[in-house]
Amino acid sequence: MTGSPSSARLSTAEIIAVGTELLTPFRSDTNSLFVTARLNELGIVVRRKSIVGDDAVDLGRAVRDALDRADLLVVCGGLGPTDDDLTRETVAAVLGRTLREDPSIVEHLRTRFAARKWTMPENNRRQASVPDEAVVLDNPRGTAPGLWLETGDRVVVLLPGPPRELEPMFTALAHTRLASRAAPERLYRRVLRVTGRGESHVEEMTQRVYDRWRQVDPPVGTTVLASPGLVELHLSTRAASREAALGVLDAATGELAAVLGNHLFSTDGRSLSEVVGELLQRDGFRVAVGESCTGGLVTARLVDIPGSSSYVETGVVAYSNEVKRRVLGVDPELLTTEGAVSEAVAVAMAEGARRVGATDIGIGVTGVAGPGGGSDEKPVGTVCVGVVGPGSEQEARTAQFPGDRAMIRRLATQTALDLLRRVLLRRTRERATVRGG
Ligand code: AMP
Ligand code: MG
Repeated sequence: MTGSPSSARLSTAEIIAVGTELLTPFRSDTNSLFVTARLNELGIVVRRKSIVGDDAVDLGRAVRDALDRADLLVVCGGLGPTDDDLTRETVAAVLGRTLREDPSIVEHLRTRFAARKWTMPENNRRQASVPDEAVVLDNPRGTAPGLWLETGDRVVVLLPGPPRELEPMFTALAHTRLASRAAPERLYRRVLRVTGRGESHVEEMTQRVYDRWRQVDPPVGTTVLASPGLVELHLSTRAASREAALGVLDAATGELAAVLGNHLFSTDGRSLSEVVGELLQRDGFRVAVGESCTGGLVTARLVDIPGSSSYVETGVVAYSNEVKRRVLGVDPELLTTEGAVSEAVAVAMAEGARRVGATDIGIGVTGVAGPGGGSDEKPVGTVCVGVVGPGSEQEARTAQFPGDRAMIRRLATQTALDLLRRVLLRRTRERATVRGG
């Protein structure tokens, strides 16, 4: 199927990553993530991705199937000069095109090699063969040119596998040929971040709201993504009008925020550390951390944020009871009666850190990260966090976390930062109440 170029809009895409190495445990396909991000910017939705080895039969079948479904097919890899690179020949065969050597590409390749004082190996000539009616896409960083092929209303793009070659080529294509064929609709997203509630709990709280937004025009789709200590709601909508898209996303976000309450900490991409940092900055508070089982991770997450020097004073790793006593001034009596993993000790560590740092706020974290050291009363995964300040305020929380040592420590940092966030938020509400009379 050939003929004059079509102007039909491209709204759906599929991606095929080609390479036997991508079917081993040693390499993964990252090109499709890059390609998907660029396509989404154009409002083109990726409906399916596949990975096939360097095998003409598998690839041919994958190309045929994809062309039955999608407007645009992006094939990455297999354009190299060696025998196992089959993409060019296979796609030409599926589309019924003849391959011809393009003398200007051969010339270009020879010049490229000559510039390095090398002679071009003969097998590189394969990269100069071009299917009928294909457009050659320049590759400034390598020898394999890309190809743009049209078949009826559909488009097939072939790109070389190395990401450093593919990325600039695909970016250029996205700004030119693809942009002019993309539909006027664009994809808009909003990410809502929640902590302190598990995935199913968040779903239970929000499902009725997001089910309803799925039925408005333009519809808002929602995906719930969970990772340790964090649940994200990804809202997306596709619309020609930016105002219409942002309108429904804002309204849906507002309703979800109302049902999620304080568990929602970010609707604009900010991380928990950033949100906590901004609250501290807002109030002009400085913070000091005393940490045991997290070994500095809480402090590290706070100082991950540029500008954190304006609110982080110090972090003390008080791993042994001796240092808890000597540096943080934890009462030895408390360590004996309550145990090192207790809310009382977490608060005393927070108090000690606040004294060491001479800050407004102190955080204390102590827990059993495992795999050893658990007891019936305090099993592995028991973590206590305490926040003291500003002033005489004092908060503590005990959590029981699942998972291995790394996960327990990660969850402990999340709980500590979240407790601090909630303490600072309460001040926001109190101030509002005072102001409101
Ligand atoms: P090729 O164009 O098939 O010769 O690919 C050359 C190299 O690019 C491979 O050896 C991989 O290291 C890399 N590569 C190929 N496909 C991908 C992909 N989908 N994602 C990331 N890297 C890739
Ligand atoms: Mg390959």
